[in-house]
Amino acid sequence: MKQTQCFINGEYRNCEQKFDNFNPATGQLIGYTGEASEQDVSDAVAAAKQALEGPWGEMPSAQRLELLGKLAQEIDRRFDDFLQAECLDTGKPYSLARHIDIPRGAANFNVFAEIVKNFPGESFLMDTPDGSGALNYSIHKPKGVIAVISPWNLPLLLMTWKVAPALACGNTVVVKPSEETSMTTALLGEVMNAVGIPAGVFNVVTGYGKTVGNALVSHPDTDAITFTGSTATGVKLMQTAAVDITDISLELGGKNPALVFADADLDKAVEGCLRSAFVNCGQVCLGTERIYVQRPLFEAFVEKMKQGAEAYVLGDPENAATTLGPMVSRTQMDKVLGYYQLAKDQGANVVTGGNAAKVEGPWANGNWVEPTIWTGLAEESPIVKEEIFGPCTHIAPFDTEAEAVSLANASKYGLCATVWTENASRAHRVSQQLQVGIVWANCWFLRDLRTAFGGAKQSGIGREGGVHSLEFYTETSNICLKF
Ligand code: NAD
Repeated sequence: MKQTQCFINGEYRNCEQKFDNFNPATGQLIGYTGEASEQDVSDAVAAAKQALEGPWGEMPSAQRLELLGKLAQEIDRRFDDFLQAECLDTGKPYSLARHIDIPRGAANFNVFAEIVKNFPGESFLMDTPDGSGALNYSIHKPKGVIAVISPWNLPLLLMTWKVAPALACGNTVVVKPSEETSMTTALLGEVMNAVGIPAGVFNVVTGYGKTVGNALVSHPDTDAITFTGSTATGVKLMQTAAVDITDISLELGGKNPALVFADADLDKAVEGCLRSAFVNCGQVCLGTERIYVQRPLFEAFVEKMKQGAEAYVLGDPENAATTLGPMVSRTQMDKVLGYYQLAKDQGANVVTGGNAAKVEGPWANGNWVEPTIWTGLAEESPIVKEEIFGPCTHIAPFDTEAEAVSLANASKYGLCATVWTENASRAHRVSQQLQVGIVWANCWFLRDLRTAFGGAKQSGIGREGGVHSLEFYTETSNICLKF
């Protein structure tokens, strides 16, 4: 049985309270996760504050950034431990986590160390009435103790996406991973100690959001909050942050559209839309849950998507042939199946799927749902409007470019969109009209970590990635020196 504990001031700490941790692929109990007390949270924040005033705050930046490089190396060295922990916690196929979750977890530390090293400050020479002039220049100081709240869909990847730039900028962190998937975050504590990150720089408090997460974000010594999760939780966090005007960065939900034009390369568009709808069992904020296809291509596109969806193999995460994992929890599975039922009730044409999936043997009690495609629902249907976060997508036809843009933009969310066309002018023209933070044209999830990442509308506030992360994780001071 795995015990997932808090990591405070460089040491693991057993919590008095704990809760069960199940393997989503088998439904079996695999261990326990500690529920941190308010005292644990306070101790973690105090340790983080003290480390800022001590060895970490005093460490030259070059040494700090070198340690981040060592963190990446140590994650690589412990690759199999991280891989196993992530796959046990989430049930996702090893083949997926081996190529995405764990390598990106390590890469985040290298990338942000490099970005901080090369970050140019700004300076302005100005005229003054007496003719002597003045120089303005800005410096970037760590913000302090950063509360990092992360979700369960890509646990190591999304947590390090925030921890790496926060540490690179000289902050300390207290992380509250999702209660569903805390193992790799806790394991990172061992890596921190192994490479010599001073105690208190990286702390983990495990447990539920309403209790542990809330205690962390409302703690008076938390200097900034960085959150990835649902829009509903984002609303609550913003209200909490408002009390002390605490800085907050929100990466929230999405209901991302794909626009497939008649001049698209059909096979490329189908391959891209299959991936964006179904990878990680649809549990990706950037996933495509609504696809609009120009009418001449509609029938052929739907048929090829059906064939592709039916080719996914569910089951043993360790089997190289497995291409789709389970839902992370029974709650999430029930939520998705609730939408599957609603789609039927509303008269959707179920092109494929629509039910819980049957997987035999030791996997029979896992949280399996079928990859599902619908057509025929009204744009007002909750299936087309609400984020489902499962392996499902709705496909609808359109006629004109203007109609496609208007359909894509008719959402309260604005995280990302994909555009599929072989006409480069159209790709630029349409992309620029979409009300989203990220557009991928003829690709999906092609990530350059130097680029801005974040959502428009209710998909978030602020941008992270590249220098945008540095803007959030540092306090900028302008210094004006009169000659
Ligand atoms: P969630 O909002 O339920 O939980 C996210 C985290 O917030 C968890 O650690 C949870 O314990 C914590 N939390 C919950 N209530 C809290 C509270 N009151 N105070 C403090 N912390 C609290 O989200 P989830 O179900 O874990 O993740 C799925 C959601 O995340 C989806 O909506 C998805 O779109 C979104 N997401 C967004 C991005 C992005 O980059 N925009 C990336 C991944 C996931």
